[in-house]
Amino acid sequence: MLRKLGLLERILIGFVLGIVAGAVFGEAIGGIKFLGDILLRLLQMLVIPLVFTTLSVGVAKIGGMKMGRIFGKTLFFYYITGIFALTIGLILANIFGVGIGMELGELGQVEVVTPPPFTETVLNIIPTNIVNAMANATMLQVVFFAIVFGISMGWAAEASAAVKATLESAAEVMFKMVYMVLAYAPIGVFALMAWTVGNFGLGVLAPFASLILVVYLGCIIHVFVVHTIFLWLFCKINPLRFIGKIKEAILFAFTTTSSAGTLPVSFKVANEVGISKSVSGFVLPIGATINMDGTALYQTAAAIFIANAFGIELTIGQMILIAVTAVLASIGTAGVPGAGLIMLMTVLGSVGLPVEGIALIAGIDRILDMARTAVNVIDDLTATAMVACTEGERLSPDLYSVKAMAE
Ligand code: ASP
Repeated sequence: MLRKLGLLERILIGFVLGIVAGAVFGEAIGGIKFLGDILLRLLQMLVIPLVFTTLSVGVAKIGGMKMGRIFGKTLFFYYITGIFALTIGLILANIFGVGIGMELGELGQVEVVTPPPFTETVLNIIPTNIVNAMANATMLQVVFFAIVFGISMGWAAEASAAVKATLESAAEVMFKMVYMVLAYAPIGVFALMAWTVGNFGLGVLAPFASLILVVYLGCIIHVFVVHTIFLWLFCKINPLRFIGKIKEAILFAFTTTSSAGTLPVSFKVANEVGISKSVSGFVLPIGATINMDGTALYQTAAAIFIANAFGIELTIGQMILIAVTAVLASIGTAGVPGAGLIMLMTVLGSVGLPVEGIALIAGIDRILDMARTAVNVIDDLTATAMVACTEGERLSPDLYSVKAMAE
């Protein structure tokens, strides 16, 4: 019977059974954490090769003046909306006081690390040794190298055809690995949830509710307020009709929690709303790799949640640093399930928050991942539409209100 269930159902069952097992067995179930760590390690194993292969190939496909202009617009639209996502995350997390009352201050050994100076943070983006960067999973350095490598592949034109084809097929193979890892997810989630509840007691779950609420509410505000305004401003189209047209991709993102995996569906719906293939072919893959508004919103809220849970007070400056790091971390987050949780470590590290906080959230991460991945994909499609509109493309007629069509 279990075989008939979809992945999402199986993960939800693992989640619920984990809570029950943790509540029943309490701390005695602590040893099970190892099964959850397997999931985290499997996910980590995928991230570096996925980012390198998908991003370098994506960048290599840029060519000529038009692509340069489109690239500029792509980055602009991706990051202007990102700033709104972060702000929403920061404000809501503070309004709802996520994590307050968990009082884990004495459970985790809180080691407050002083953040490195800004210049060092910038320098740290450039790898001195790419093998080292990959070996140590230093994501931003790998992203930096992938972009430079991709640009060089583009310049080398035909000479790079073999490398491009190899990287493209390697990316395909990596996506297959994602599905293998996903098959293990229910067990990993069960273990992490059982370990969390067993370790901290059922009381731990109540403050999770505020984090879940903040992430979902933030995602809804981002899509229905921020995207709505941008779509109207740049495309003069009806945002609700746009959402209706791309719902297949939204649903897919929500259930698979992988924006990279949703790419084929995103291409299909982009085509259906009338975006040209040359724009969607360039903007969407870059978005699936580097544009993660939902993830940035989640990482900001989650970092504040962890600080509150461990009883660490953050200054406004530290919150801004969290937000800035969340943008950078979300750039380095691969569009695969759970990647945002792993990249959360970078955000926590930026202000010296305890990385043990990751384990706290891990058990419920899938639920948060569904919302943030959906927003990541919606944002990719929204930005793609805005690039198309500013390039003079006319989208599907039924997206325009009668008044706008008459103009
Ligand atoms: N699952 C997300 C995505 O694919 C990334 C993340 O974990 O935040 O977009």
